[in-house]
Amino acid sequence: MTIRHHLSEQLLMAYAAGALPEAFNLVVATHVSMCSECRARLGSYETLGGGG
Ligand SMILES: [Zn+2]
Repeated sequence: MTIRHHLSEQLLMAYAAGALPEAFNLVVATHVSMCSECRARLGSYETLGGGG
């Protein structure tokens, strides 16, 4: 399976913030499960929003 395009920063940020509709959550979750690059980017956003 080839990934044609990566998730946008906007989408990753909204996902990390829990602000996405369920359908988009599924798309993002599926992508990051296959794509280490976007997974790493998502990790940085989750750190920002983690309140730590
Ligand atoms: Zn990706």
